[in-house]
Amino acid sequence: MKLSDVTLTTPYLSLDPIFYHEVAPTPLKKPHLISINSDAVSLLGLDNNTLDPKEVESLLNGTLTLKGSRPYAMTYAGHQFGYYVQRLGDGRAINLGAMNGWNLQLKGSGVTRYSRQGDGRAVLRSSIREYLMSEAMHALGIPTSRAFAIIGSEEKVAREAWESGAIVLRLSRSWIRFGSFEYFFHTNKHQELEKLADFLLHESFPHLEGVEDSYLKMYSEIVKRTAELMAQWQSVGFNHGVMNTDNMSAIGITIDYGPFAFMDTFESGYICNHTDSGGRYSYDNQPRIGYWNLERLAHALSPLITQEKLKHELEKYGEYFTAKLLELLGAKLGLDTSEENDSELFRSLFTLMENGRIDMTPFFRHLSRYDQNREQLLALTLAPNQLNEWCDRYDTRLALNTTTTDARHQRMLRTNPKYVLKNYILQEAIDKAEQRDFTLVNDLLMLAQNPYDEHPEFERYAGITPQEHTNLKLSCSS
Ligand code: AMP
Ligand code: MG
Repeated sequence: MKLSDVTLTTPYLSLDPIFYHEVAPTPLKKPHLISINSDAVSLLGLDNNTLDPKEVESLLNGTLTLKGSRPYAMTYAGHQFGYYVQRLGDGRAINLGAMNGWNLQLKGSGVTRYSRQGDGRAVLRSSIREYLMSEAMHALGIPTSRAFAIIGSEEKVAREAWESGAIVLRLSRSWIRFGSFEYFFHTNKHQELEKLADFLLHESFPHLEGVEDSYLKMYSEIVKRTAELMAQWQSVGFNHGVMNTDNMSAIGITIDYGPFAFMDTFESGYICNHTDSGGRYSYDNQPRIGYWNLERLAHALSPLITQEKLKHELEKYGEYFTAKLLELLGAKLGLDTSEENDSELFRSLFTLMENGRIDMTPFFRHLSRYDQNREQLLALTLAPNQLNEWCDRYDTRLALNTTTTDARHQRMLRTNPKYVLKNYILQEAIDKAEQRDFTLVNDLLMLAQNPYDEHPEFERYAGITPQEHTNLKLSCSS
């Protein structure tokens, strides 16, 4: 199917106009296509062989309007760094409509009613980061928005310096956020709040439609999904950086990639966001902030469900989080049963990774071939005695496994990625892209989508991060 044969639907526009602003994208000057993600093409049910790259470029730049498309920006509010902000909304994102169950959204396509002082644009560097990272997270099995394609342009955008404008077409099953509910609660629009809950039920929780206590059950699922998402972030060393409630998805997926990072050496208090001086969104705070954000959502839902019932569901958060984390860490260590003392084994591993300044990704990858020979592991730590002592305990624990060493290795090699997109790697692709060389963007897309495979030509990205690039902080401006 060609893009020009596609028909989009816009169910969100069946809601009242207070929920959105119908606004057309503003094209960038002199656009050029950077990359198309063939996996996302298939997701939409399109054919990679017949897709016309020129049409994709025009779609992203807003000069090709698909049949049925009625572009709109969504209304929401949110708690930013702990403080409530009443009027946020899609200030630089424009939704085109839906197909195959995916909502298509342009990011960086110009001003909307919600832009406030902003220019509605996104710069090349942050667009490349979002494009690649959402695909990397997906390949690691972490729920996330997806990315269809990216364009650059010769249009200049003012940030700390002049940069060029870019647009990503991203996809999600839903773009509703915790902050969407907060908007209607805090403006006392409780009928609209209920309509939003009904919309979300229909869109993303259809199995709960018409069921007794459906709103409560939906909240309960959001609690569980968010708790599990936090466990997934923690298990791979991902730091989101801006966990404001407007960046929290109501379907529990990772959205709105800003100054995120995959940690290099493990550091529990790591803060990737350079403006987050208090460390509110540091790595080790993420699970707690997930809970805090769910409390804000519960508050916003209080006209629909009694606080007591909401609180009861929220209190299951810790259990969901811990259960998922234990499962994920057990898999990372190749354990095929669960034992009472496992959490202590995990905790001491994280302590020794921190003490030994261990780069998480190569460490777990080497551990995936561990067979009593500790040489390669010991080479990764500044605290070898602690690691040796831990390996003794690990050996004892592995003796309780019920499957063979070889089977453990095979499982672990599909659990512990060889490649994650560390910030220094992304930066290399950005530097080249700024010189109009997009080969590394496309190579990294391939690496991101196949993180467990061996790619000998990219071996250099599988080792420890060079010292000068380790655990840097990133600017929020994007
Ligand atoms: P973020 O921190 O990127 O999630 O953005 C927070 C809010 O600011 C959202 O309402 C965005 O739509 C808005 N925003 C961020 N950057 C811009 C921009 N360049 N122009 C307009 N609105 C923006
Ligand atoms: Mg956002």
